[in-house]
Amino acid sequence: MNTTTFDVAIIGGGATGCAAACFLKAAGVARVCVIEPDPTYAKASTPMATGGCRRLFGREENIRMSQFSIDYFRNFAAHVAVDGYAPDVQWHGEGYLFVVGPGHDKILQEQYRTQSALGVRVELLDGAELARRYPWMKTDDLALGLLSPEDGWLDPNSVLQGLRKKAQALGVAFKRDRVVDLFTRGRRVVDLELASGAKVGADAVINAAGCWAASIAKLAGMDLPVNPMRRFEHYVEIAATLPPMPLIKDPDRLVMRPEGKGYSVGLVRSDEPRGFNFEIEPDYFQEVVWPACAARVPAFEALKLKREWAGLYDECKLDGNMILGNWPGQLDNFFVACGFSGHGLMHAPAVGRALAELVVKGRFESIDLSRMGYQRVLDNTPYPETGII
Ligand SMILES: Cc1cc2nc3c(=O)[nH]c(=O)nc-3n(C[C@H](O)[C@H](O)[C@H](O)COP(=O)(O)OP(=O)(O)OC[C@H]3O[C@@H](n4cnc5c(N)ncnc54)[C@H](O)[C@@H]3O)c2cc1C
Repeated sequence: MNTTTFDVAIIGGGATGCAAACFLKAAGVARVCVIEPDPTYAKASTPMATGGCRRLFGREENIRMSQFSIDYFRNFAAHVAVDGYAPDVQWHGEGYLFVVGPGHDKILQEQYRTQSALGVRVELLDGAELARRYPWMKTDDLALGLLSPEDGWLDPNSVLQGLRKKAQALGVAFKRDRVVDLFTRGRRVVDLELASGAKVGADAVINAAGCWAASIAKLAGMDLPVNPMRRFEHYVEIAATLPPMPLIKDPDRLVMRPEGKGYSVGLVRSDEPRGFNFEIEPDYFQEVVWPACAARVPAFEALKLKREWAGLYDECKLDGNMILGNWPGQLDNFFVACGFSGHGLMHAPAVGRALAELVVKGRFESIDLSRMGYQRVLDNTPYPETGII
């Protein structure tokens, strides 16, 4: 079978892969392909996401990536319009609020200082101020809140479709196929074998296969500490009418935000067994999520669960941060972008731009993300994000 050759082959056409494709074309790369087996994205993480976008991080890299990406999303139509049409990402800049109990207030105060120093508009709200602003929320167990009033949420699928269509319009070839093997020569991945039997040759390869990225990297001998972790999302409607609210994250790892007539809610189960599991567990909502919602916002005692689904986080077990870049000294032209651990959608534009810089220039130009590289995995030196509560 003939080998089709590209300048860059991207494995995985989720938000990360499509963003990388757009930025590579914008950087002038002629022949780019995205290999994606499922154009319906039934199991991909991107369309399953809550859609939260925040500058509330502790690491400078994550804050700077959010600053770029949120600006990008706010001007999404201008970036991805094709023939004058672009999907509306339904940006809701109604704010993003972390609330914590006693004992965690120092973390928020430290983040506040870091974020303010980087020009992020953030506010620290003590218990009394939380009670004053959000009288419908139970606040007597809370010590502090950190609000970024200009952050918010959007529709993940519109982001994905917008980036994909833009990439196609820019001339990126989408191959409906699955990578099943990688062939190396010296310190380079030279060919990709696809499930159809076809072969793709490339000067550079990007592994943006999300939860599947670790098994693909393994084909080239690279071990990634990235595992799938199931995470449920639930759409509910309540009887009461509440005033507009920010996206709220509370000490139980409960996430709540408005969605249409109702609310999108989820509660991260940290001890969830890692693996590919898309099963819904109705008891989890009944026994864990609903009580947590009602405990935080009493109006959620009377609710109707309308829809729920299970998606996967590509969890970086080293430190909860992404792994971005090649394998120094071993694989020069194979770039991984995975391990996003629940914040890969909001960072997709910044990651796409960073990947294009790595491929085209051989270095980061806009934001120095070298501390997010694979070297820290080799050295076993975690670079944890304190902004994940
Ligand atoms: C319930 C839930 C809530 C979330 N909430 C948020 C949030 O609020 N904010 C946020 O920023 N992030 C959130 N996330 C995380 C976010 O969804 C991911 O970090 C992000 O979508 C990752 O995008 P990706 O393109 O890297 O991966 P994916 O979207 O998973 O795309 C990877 C693609 O690779 C393809 N693939 C797999 N195997 C192969 C192969 N062998 N060959 C070729 N292609 C292959 C798959 O088909 C898939 O389409 C959430 C995730 C979940 C599950």
